Amino acid sequence: MYPRLIIDLEKLKENCNKMIQLCKSQNIDIIMPVVKVAAGDQRIAKVFVDSGFQYLGDSRIQNLKKFQDFAIKKFLVRIPMLSEVDEVVKYSDISLNSELKVVSALNEAARNQNKVHEVIIMFDLGDLREGYYYKNDYLDDISQVLKLENIILKGIGTNLTCYGGLVPNKDILTRLITIKNMIEEKLKYRLEIISGGNSSSVFLFGKNQIPQEINSLRLGESIFLGKETSFQNDITGFNLDTFIFEAEIIECKTKPSYPDGETSINSFGEKPVIIDKGIMKRAILAIGKQDVLVENILPLDSSITIIGASSDHLIMDITGSDYTLGDIIRFKLNYPGLLHLMSSNYVEKIYKEKSQ
Ligand SMILES: *Cc1c(COP(=O)(O)O)cnc(C)c1O
Repeated sequence: MYPRLIIDLEKLKENCNKMIQLCKSQNIDIIMPVVKVAAGDQRIAKVFVDSGFQYLGDSRIQNLKKFQDFAIKKFLVRIPMLSEVDEVVKYSDISLNSELKVVSALNEAARNQNKVHEVIIMFDLGDLREGYYYKNDYLDDISQVLKLENIILKGIGTNLTCYGGLVPNKDILTRLITIKNMIEEKLKYRLEIISGGNSSSVFLFGKNQIPQEINSLRLGESIFLGKETSFQNDITGFNLDTFIFEAEIIECKTKPSYPDGETSINSFGEKPVIIDKGIMKRAILAIGKQDVLVENILPLDSSITIIGASSDHLIMDITGSDYTLGDIIRFKLNYPGLLHLMSSNYVEKIYKEKSQ
C-alpha cells in the first residue's frame, strides 16, 4: 500500500545509542528523549525504552496513555491544560510547568489518586515561549510549589529556539544557572534536574559552552533525524535516513509547464508562482497537502523536482528521467514532514527491524 513511510527501527536504535554515548561525553547524565513526532507509535517508543533511557517524553497525554505499559518514567513536555490535570497525574510521572495554579491543580489531582507527581518548572531565557521570564520574580511561586504535599519539585528547565529562534550559548544558559543558585540558596532546596534545552543545544557539544551544572537535555529531532536544530547541521556518525517516504505515480504525461489562459488563485487561495520552462515530463503522485506539506519532503533522486501540490495530488517535474505510471518515488523528510506523515491515517507505516 502506498503512500508509505519506511521506519528503520534498527537505525533509530543506533541513533539512541549514539546519543547516549555523546551525552555521556558532555556530562549530560539525564537524557529525556521526546517522541512526540511519532504520534503515539508504540513500536517507535519501544526502541527508546529498550535503549535504556530513564525517561520517555511526549507533548500529548493521549500518546503517553498508549505508552502506559512501558516500564519507564513518562514525562509530559507541553505544559498541562487545567482541564487535563487528572489525566496528567494518571499517565505521566513528571510534567513541565510554568503556572502555579496548574501545579496546585496537579497537587489536588495527585492527592485524589494517592500519588506523588513530579514537576520541572520552566524558565523563559528569552525565546518567549513557555516559562517564568528569567528577569521576573519566581521565588514566591517556587516556595509555594515546595509546600504542596503531593508534588515534588524535581528541577528546572528551559526551552530555546522554538518560538523566537533564540540560539543557546554560555551566556544564555548561565541565566538558568543563576536561577538554580538563587532557588538553592534562598529556599534551601537542592534541584536534581537542570534541563538545558532541546536538540538546539546539541551543536554546543565539545565547545565548552554548556555550563557544567546542566545535567539534562530533552531531545527529539537530534535522535530521530541526526540533526542539531540550531543550524540544521548533521550530527557526525548519526543515521540521517531513519525514515524514508514513498509515493506512487498516478499520471505521467508530457505537458506545458505554464497554465494555458487567464489565471487566478488555486484551491488553497494562493496565487501560484509558475515559471514557464516550456514542455516538460510531469508526474502526479498520490499524496497531497492533507498528508504532508511539499516543502518538508525532498526526492532522493536529485534529478527530479516537486513543482506543487493540492490536497491529494503532488506534481513533479521528471523531465529527463525514465519514471513511468505506477513507479514509486522516494523522499527524505524534515522534522515537520515526519510529524505530519506520522499523524496521517492515510500513510502506511512499514517497520524495518534489521537494516540490510
Ligand atoms: C519538542 C520539545 C522538546 C524536544 O525538542 P527537539 O528539538 O525535537 O529536541 C523538548 N522540550 C520541549 C518543551 C518540547 O516541546
